[in-house]
Amino acid sequence: MDLLSLVSMATKRRSDYFAQAKTLARKYKEQPSLEERMKAESLGLVKGLRDKLMKWGEYERTILDKTLVSALAACILGIKDDNLDRKLEKCWPIIVGDMIPPLTKFLAETKEYIDSGVLRLGDQTVDFADYNLLGAVPGAIDLGVEEIEGINPEEEGALEASQGRSQGKSWPSLADRVSRYLATPTFAFYNLGLYMVAQDQGFKEMRRVAKADKKVCVDCKNYGERGWAPVGELPMPGKGCRCYDRCRCYIEYR
Ligand SMILES: [Zn+2]
Ligand SMILES: [Zn+2]
Repeated sequence: MDLLSLVSMATKRRSDYFAQAKTLARKYKEQPSLEERMKAESLGLVKGLRDKLMKWGEYERTILDKTLVSALAACILGIKDDNLDRKLEKCWPIIVGDMIPPLTKFLAETKEYIDSGVLRLGDQTVDFADYNLLGAVPGAIDLGVEEIEGINPEEEGALEASQGRSQGKSWPSLADRVSRYLATPTFAFYNLGLYMVAQDQGFKEMRRVAKADKKVCVDCKNYGERGWAPVGELPMPGKGCRCYDRCRCYIEYR
């Protein structure tokens, strides 16, 4: 599907999305739980496609729905009850603009891999459990998370490339990529919700606080070192930094 079709589909379903997002936010309550839930759903979706439980069209629609609903739910968790509907309206165009263009491209790539046989439907030769995928599969044993946390984004990128993980050319790597639409962006959108509230409350300044670990990227370190800036001058976590959706900087206001 092209960009315009996806955008118009999303626009038509907007009020459904808002309602579903409110339910989701009520259920998961905190951003980390929402993220974990969406990681598990990413894996479930990709497995469903691989195992032919769902057709391509349904897969595409479901990813679109879940991407938008989870982003909205994350905003809701940031906004809480502070004039929720009005603020959520302001989040919507940002979510659509941020998520749908890359999602369109990602879906087209996946379709190409399926059509050309890089990804084979029904192929169960690679077990999802062989990868330290998401650590979010209910009942899964979480192995090696400490090691992964210890490496910086450059090393991580090289490792991903060597395993063919980053391109979505294997089923497990596809699940990982799907989670970067459904799950990891919830952190940035949660922060967007908080930002809407801070703006309303009249805070004048903001600063980005980078996580002080080996994984922090140069951009995030620089934002952190800039210190206080007028509200609106610093990008939200995940924006303007090379760690993108994996950014875990937080914002303080005063
Ligand atoms: Zn960064
Ligand atoms: Zn960051």
